[in-house]
Amino acid sequence: MSISCNVCCKEFGEPLYESLNDHSFTTMNKSASTRTRVYLCLGCGHLQSGELPNLKEYYAHEYEVNLSNEDADQIYAVVDGRTVFRADHQAAVLLSKVAWFPGCRVRDYGCAKAQTLKKVLSEHPEIDAFLFDVTDKYIPFWNRFPRQPSWSVHQPDPAWFGTLDIVLSFFALEHVSDLHATLDSIKSLLKPGGLFYFVVPDVYSNIADFIVADHINHFSSGSLHALLEGQGFVHIDVDAVAHNSAFVVTAHLPIGTDVEEEARDLKVEDTFSAAREMAHFWRDAPRRIEEFEKTKKATDVIAIYGAGFYGNLIASLLTDTESITCFIDQNPHLQGSELWGKKVFSPDNLPQNVTHVLVGLNPAKAHTIIESITSWHDRALSYTYLQIGGHSA
Ligand SMILES: [Zn+2]
Repeated sequence: MSISCNVCCKEFGEPLYESLNDHSFTTMNKSASTRTRVYLCLGCGHLQSGELPNLKEYYAHEYEVNLSNEDADQIYAVVDGRTVFRADHQAAVLLSKVAWFPGCRVRDYGCAKAQTLKKVLSEHPEIDAFLFDVTDKYIPFWNRFPRQPSWSVHQPDPAWFGTLDIVLSFFALEHVSDLHATLDSIKSLLKPGGLFYFVVPDVYSNIADFIVADHINHFSSGSLHALLEGQGFVHIDVDAVAHNSAFVVTAHLPIGTDVEEEARDLKVEDTFSAAREMAHFWRDAPRRIEEFEKTKKATDVIAIYGAGFYGNLIASLLTDTESITCFIDQNPHLQGSELWGKKVFSPDNLPQNVTHVLVGLNPAKAHTIIESITSWHDRALSYTYLQIGGHSA
C-alpha cells in the first residue's frame, strides 16, 4: 500500500530513514515493537512516520500525560537551578500572544489535564473555557478548575459550533493522521476571524522527534504554511523561537474584509537538506555507542546523563547495560526514581567513582548543558556524545 503526505497528499517514495531493527521508543519512553520509517515529502517538505500498528490501543491504555500527579509535568528548562515546567512556559507564551477580552470563548482541543488553560484562567477569570478530549479520564482534573468549565468527551458539543473565539491545541497534531478532517472540525467550531493557536514539536531543533514512534507528523515551517493555507486560514505565523524545540503557530479564519495572502516561498529545498542530515544522524548514533563499547576501559565507571528519551535510547543501544552505574538528570521529578534498574541522581550528586559519562541530551544543546555543571569542572570525567563534535551550527 502506498503512503501519501498528510499535508499535501503527494505520494511518498522510499523512506528517507529506516531503523536498523524493530525496536523503537514512544514519547512515553516505552519501547514499541515496530520498525521506524520516516518519509520526506518532496512536495511540501513534511516529514512523516509510519503509524504504530496498534494506535487505538496505545492511546486508550498507554498514552497518559502525567496522570499520576497534578503538579507533575514535563520539564521545560532549568534556568539558574530553577526548574521551569512546560505548562507554565506554554501559559506565559499564550498569555503574551493573545489579546484576551471578557467573555472570550476558548477551547482546548485534546486538552488532557488542560493545565495551560487553567493557568490562563487564573490570570483572566473573565474568559469562558471549553474542554474536550477523546477520553473521560481527565474529568477529575477539569473539576478542579478555578471556575467551572464546559466540557465534552469523544465528540465536541454541537452547541459550540461557530461560536468560539479561540481554539487551542498543545502537542496534539503531531499524533494525527487525518490532519484535514481535524482542521475541518476546528474550523467548524471557530467564529469568522477566530484564532487557531497551536504548538507542535520542531524536529529541526530537537532531533529526537525524528524517531519517536508515536509522532506521525514532523512539521516544518513550510509544511505548516502549506497545511494552513490549503485549509483557507489567513494571517499565519509560525514562531520557532518562543518555545524550545517547538513551533508556536497562530492562524485565523478569514472574515469578509480579509484578502487572500500571496503564496510565499516555503523554502522546501532547505528543509530537504536538514531532513537528510537528521536521517544521517540517526543512522550514525548507534555506531557511536557501538564504538564506545568496543573501546571502553575495564576500569571505567559509567553514568548516562539524561533519564529521558536520549538516555533511554543510549541504554537500549548498549549490549551491556550492567556496565551503567546510574543515570543523571536535572529534572527533580525523575531524581530518586529508577531507570533500567539504576538510580537517577542530580548532576551535583554524581557518584564520586564515575569516570565516564554517556551524554543522552539533545545534541544541539548537549555541550552547553554539560559545560554548565560547575560541580563537574574539577573532576576527571570523560564523555561520549551522540554526535561527533557535538556542537551543531
Ligand atoms: Zn506534502
